Amino acid sequence: EGRIDLLIIGGGPIGLACALEAQKAGLSYLVVEKGCLVNSLYRYPLNMTFFSTSERLEIGGIPFVSNNAKPTRAESLEYYRRVADSAKIRMKLFEEVTAIIPADGYYTVQTSKTHYEAENIVIATGFYDIPNLMNVPGEDLPKVTHYYRDPHYYAGQKVVVVGANNSAVDAALETYRKGAEVTMVIREGNIGKRVKYWVKPDIENRVEEGSIKAFFYSTIHAIHDHSVDIKTPDGIVSIDNDFVIAATGYQPNFSFLEKVGIALSKDWKRYPAYNEKTMETNLQGIYLAGVVCGGMDTHVWFIENSREHAKKIVHHIQNKNSYTF
Ligand code: FAD
Repeated sequence: EGRIDLLIIGGGPIGLACALEAQKAGLSYLVVEKGCLVNSLYRYPLNMTFFSTSERLEIGGIPFVSNNAKPTRAESLEYYRRVADSAKIRMKLFEEVTAIIPADGYYTVQTSKTHYEAENIVIATGFYDIPNLMNVPGEDLPKVTHYYRDPHYYAGQKVVVVGANNSAVDAALETYRKGAEVTMVIREGNIGKRVKYWVKPDIENRVEEGSIKAFFYSTIHAIHDHSVDIKTPDGIVSIDNDFVIAATGYQPNFSFLEKVGIALSKDWKRYPAYNEKTMETNLQGIYLAGVVCGGMDTHVWFIENSREHAKKIVHHIQNKNSYTF
């Protein structure tokens, strides 16, 4: 493999969008993905429905046909796989990028299997690998998960769901409807504002009628084998419990970004430094795309509004080249 124009780290929707754009521009490129194709989407809850309509999840202008306005996870896997396949996107799967080493006018990209040389790099590594921890005793017990998959598993069980955003609400409603006894533990005083508008009344009504219990202004204090201690405004409340679904969100891999040399803001948001017009970071030829751009604000960038990163990046690389020659 000779030196290429562009190496894209991450085979998520946005990494694939960058690949399609690079292909259109005639750049030599390669996508390196540490898991399966669209690995994050693959690991989402099995019954998940997107909040975006299908045309807003489209990449490279390729139509996304779905039965309903809002596609399901399964339909999205089918779509991105067909796109990658029909466009013959050049891609290495199950290969993790471990380091980016600057060389003379290019970078050496070290992976779990080999290394590559590339003049430009896009980091489109998303945010789904590292959950936001509650940092409470018992969080590491096997009954606690940060990656809810499927409701059937929880039938007849006492389940605590932590959080009040889309993931938490979906998990609470699904497990409740498969016969779990569900208690939500919510830091704020209400269900999250960004919860899908057609789901919000459902969860609010279940909580109001008491079929799903909810502790507001509350956090997990400790998790034990058969119970959970909840810190409420009225003191610690201990309830019987079989499983905890911690839908506390995820964060980008900041240590990877730091290791590469990308500057992060000093506050807790840890915004990575990049030029909004070009998506280039403080390192020449290294770009960011997708949800990773938002630092801890992981809700700011999603598929529908970060597809455009691909165009900006490829445009910048092309113009840069025309100046050089
Ligand atoms: P990702 O899809 O996370 O892709 C990053 C990829 O990089 C992953 O495949 C990962 O395996 C890979 N990777 C990471 N590190 C490395 C490494 N070192 N080497 C190689 N590969 C690596 N957005 C919407 O627009 N609409 C929605 O309706 C919507 N619903 C959502 C529902 C849920 C439950 C969740 C969690 C998110 C949802 N989002 C939605 C957000 C959306 O999924 C993300 O914004 C989207 O996945 C971002 O794409 P991405 O390519 O930036 O990141």
